[in-house]
Amino acid sequence: DYGSVAHDDKEKIFVAVRLRPLNEREVTNNDVLDWECINNTTILYKNSISERSSSPTAYAYDRVFGYESTTREVYEEAAKGVALSALSGINSSIFAYGQTSSGKTYTMSGITEYTLADIYDHISRNEDRQFTLKFSAMEIYNEVVKDLLTQDDTPLRLLDDPERGTVVEKLKEVTLKDWNHLKELLSVCEAQRKIGETALNEVSSRSHQILRLTVESTAKKIVGLQNASTLTAAVNFVDLAGSERASQTLSANVRMKEGSHINRSLLTLGTVIRKLSKKGNGHVPFRDSKLTRILQNSLGGNARTAIICTMSPAHSHAEQSRNTLLFATCAK
Ligand code: ADP
Ligand code: MG
Repeated sequence: DYGSVAHDDKEKIFVAVRLRPLNEREVTNNDVLDWECINNTTILYKNSISERSSSPTAYAYDRVFGYESTTREVYEEAAKGVALSALSGINSSIFAYGQTSSGKTYTMSGITEYTLADIYDHISRNEDRQFTLKFSAMEIYNEVVKDLLTQDDTPLRLLDDPERGTVVEKLKEVTLKDWNHLKELLSVCEAQRKIGETALNEVSSRSHQILRLTVESTAKKIVGLQNASTLTAAVNFVDLAGSERASQTLSANVRMKEGSHINRSLLTLGTVIRKLSKKGNGHVPFRDSKLTRILQNSLGGNARTAIICTMSPAHSHAEQSRNTLLFATCAK
């Protein structure tokens, strides 16, 4: 069982928070650290003494990673168990949520590489089953889905397949030859990804990116009927668009339009996550956004989910950081 690493309660969404160090600009501006991780699960807002409440506010999650944490630690303790469940035929999703420049891409790209390395390691040592790995990558920008592995800019349609659920029509799926092949594909994705210039971060992204690894396996020797079946599962690495409010960084009309779509997708994701985290709360509105439709099979039900909420430690970002923690709290 590869799935027992991160947490025991498999039905729960694993919610982690990661602080990055102050960046150069924040240091130059004499920005101060607002937050302190007092243990592995609790983060403290130190400055609330000087605001309305009389004592510092503590927030608790499944795991909290401080300024000095490495992406390796985040992977091992918050993502690995969820990601490697694909080896046992269980779908999963790992999200990075947070404002622009908080460390989503930094965290998610490391997690993606560590996962792939571990999956290669496991399958090379597995003597009973034959594995095939397939890779696909897409971007959701203005509620339009595009393939990140092709030059073709044609929007992709979502179709409802009676057996497989929502399918992205014509999405390119590449069978991986080896580790280097994957590295090549990852750089293709990076080059294809839409980049928007903002005041907050020159290479910030207004799009949601989903990298999907599909793991297929069949038994090499069939003993009886029971292990004759093929197991197929996907792990989705989701680098979300910045969670900041449109008003803060968006100026032109185009940007406003982008902003409202980003908010709609994130809003729907928030609602879906909230509903899933509280069992038996009726209708889950997967169909309200492209993001949640595409991920429906890898969210809820038997699937496993981890959310890494990234935040800046700087006082100047306190409001956004608190919004991020609010999202994290709702996901628990
Ligand atoms: P986002 O994807 O949320 O917009 P990035 O991942 O691009 O943010 O991070 C913004 C900048 O901060 C990048 O230059 C990145 O290398 C750096 N950074 C982010 N997280 C960390 C971290 N934990 N440690 C060191 N540098 C980081
Ligand atoms: Mg990014």
